Amino acid sequence: MDATPALPTLFVSHGSPMHALEPGAVGETWRALGVRGTRPRAILMISAHWETPVPMLGGSERPETVHDFYGFPAPLYRLRYPAPGSPALAARTQGLLKEAGFAAGIDGSHGLDHGAWSPLLHMYPAADIPVVQLSVQPELGMRHHLAIGRALAPLAREGVLVVGSGSMTHNLRDLMMQRAAGDAASMPYVQEFRAWVRARLEAGDWEGLAAYREHAPHGVRAHPTEEHFLPLIAAAGAAGASARAECVLGSVENAVLAMDTWRFTQ
Ligand code: ZN
Repeated sequence: MDATPALPTLFVSHGSPMHALEPGAVGETWRALGVRGTRPRAILMISAHWETPVPMLGGSERPETVHDFYGFPAPLYRLRYPAPGSPALAARTQGLLKEAGFAAGIDGSHGLDHGAWSPLLHMYPAADIPVVQLSVQPELGMRHHLAIGRALAPLAREGVLVVGSGSMTHNLRDLMMQRAAGDAASMPYVQEFRAWVRARLEAGDWEGLAAYREHAPHGVRAHPTEEHFLPLIAAAGAAGASARAECVLGSVENAVLAMDTWRFTQ
C-alpha cells in the first residue's frame, strides 16, 4: 500500500466570470474547499476555455492571467491571479499522458483563463500554489476525456489537486433568452438533466455518463457543445476506476446554469 493519502479530485462549475468579484454561494463553496482540503503541492486545472486538437499543457513558469471574456465591468479586467506555473508538473503530466498513448504537448506561453483563475481566486487566494492548465478536446468526446482522466490518476498521490472546471449545464442561448424574459424560475430540463447526471455519478456509472448525449434527458440541450461538460468526466476519471462521487454544491443560476460542484475520492 502506498502510504501517501490520495487527494480528492474536483469538478467545479465556474459560471460567469463575475464570480471572481461577486463570489456569492458558489464562491463561498470554493473558499471552503480550499480551506477544508489538504494543501496541494500543485494544481492541474482542466479548463473548458482551452480547446485544442490534442491535449496541451501550460508550461509557463509565470502564467499570465488571461481575461478571455468581453463586456464585463472594468474591475474584472484588473484582477490578477499571480500563481506560479510548474514546468515540472507539465512535464510529468505530459509523461503520464504519453504513457497512456496520447500525443500530449506543452505550450510554454499559455496563461490561465477564467475557467482556471476565477475559482482559484477563492479556493487559494494567496496564489502561492503552482498551477498548470490542461486543455480539452471537444472533437474527441467523453470517452477520450475519461481516458485522459484515468491517465492522470497517479497525480492525486503526488500531492497534485486535479480540478475540472466547466459547467453542469451550459446552454448560452437559453441563458440569453432567460435574461431577456427576466424569468428566474429554474427551467425543468435543467433539473431533469442534473438528476440524471447525479444518479450516474453516485452509481460510479462512468460509461453511462459518457453516453449522456444518447441517454440523458435533454443532454444535447444541456450541452449544445461539449467543452463545458468534458472536465467533469476527466476529473472523475482522475480519481481512478472506483472513484466515489460526492456532491459538494448543487445550485442553479439564472434558471439555466447548473453550478454543481463535485468531489471524487479514490
Ligand atoms: Zn465557461
